[in-house]
Amino acid sequence: LPPLAARLSATSAPATVAMSAAARVLREAGHDVISLAIGEPDFATPPHAVEAAHAAALAGQTKYPPTDGTAALLRAVRAKFARENGVEYGANEVIVSTGAKQGIFNAFAATLDPGDEVVVPSPYWASYPLIAQLLGGVPVFVPCDESDRFRLRPERLAAALGPRSRWVVLNFPNNPSGATAPASLLRELAEVLRHHPNCWILCDEIYEHLSYGREPHASLAAVAPFLRDRILTLNGVSKSYAMTGWRIGYAGGPSRLIRAMSVIQSNSTSGASSISQAAAVAALEGPQETVGVMRADYQRRRDAVVAALRAIPGLTCAVPDGALYLYPGVGGFIGRTSAGGRPIADDAAFALALLEEQHVAVVPGDAFGMSPFIRLSIASDDRELAEACRRIALFCAGCA
Ligand code: PLP
Repeated sequence: LPPLAARLSATSAPATVAMSAAARVLREAGHDVISLAIGEPDFATPPHAVEAAHAAALAGQTKYPPTDGTAALLRAVRAKFARENGVEYGANEVIVSTGAKQGIFNAFAATLDPGDEVVVPSPYWASYPLIAQLLGGVPVFVPCDESDRFRLRPERLAAALGPRSRWVVLNFPNNPSGATAPASLLRELAEVLRHHPNCWILCDEIYEHLSYGREPHASLAAVAPFLRDRILTLNGVSKSYAMTGWRIGYAGGPSRLIRAMSVIQSNSTSGASSISQAAAVAALEGPQETVGVMRADYQRRRDAVVAALRAIPGLTCAVPDGALYLYPGVGGFIGRTSAGGRPIADDAAFALALLEEQHVAVVPGDAFGMSPFIRLSIASDDRELAEACRRIALFCAGCA
């Protein structure tokens, strides 16, 4: 067979995808599987966004869009950053891409040379190191402890930074831990980053609107304007507006970086779908009530599931301040054996045994760089979440 590229050996599809696929196989075999493996809002896209897409398609907005995004969406994105984040981006300081994920790909492709380091606090969304590695970068991890509710400690960030650091990834609210960073913490992190002028800073704020704590979400570019020329503020409509399938992300940053990202984009996707962009304009500029409704609902589910998991002997569960996930610790089960006779050597074995014996799909913490934990998504309805908790309790009780 013809060979595949050597760079593929350094990366793989994320484990979240693998776990969802395993759940699908069991489901197709007739089992009643509950999948809490993926961060996909279970709400519908707001109707006004769907209608805007329909109108755009009928009005002939079906040609190649401008590479960086339609004028209407770029305007809406700049207005959003100014209104919600207190950051004024100029016309050549924003770009729209095919999901926030492509924004990350563009940014890393435009800046990483082989051996450049990408500093990623762990636990992390698996795509940061995977994309970095695909592009020749070397991830450097900064552990955040469950006992700190997974908050990033500035002194640990300082210890991870060095002359080869090209990027630092800050993701608040965090996937998978739910950790947030109030302005006071961002200011401390900014003081650390001040001393590394050759390092870009990715602020992935895709879960911005899913923030449940008392402290409001804050953007580093607003809190530390002296870093503004190095910050890429990344966001998208996937999570805030339940629009994962529309594939629209956007970013604001210095024009030099945005221009470089645009070069990558012009040689890959040629820009995001014009019809999805019309929907995104409506989402950003239209009524915002659905955002609050979703947030309140996720918060209610979070409280219910945290309470149910904390009642299970052997599990630990920090209360996440944001995002769509819980990240319970399963250290109490390592070295034990499941009711079905499966040895639980690590969190991957725990997740696999849970799937096979109780038909609940979760993602093991090793996929997010911190074990022994499992990540479960709260983007399922109350009945499913309650049933999943009941099955997890049964599974745990059955471990000898
Ligand atoms: N950033 C984080 C932290 C995510 O969890 C996700 C999706 O799961 C994304 C970015 C990607 O979002 P998009 O659908 O815009 O590509």
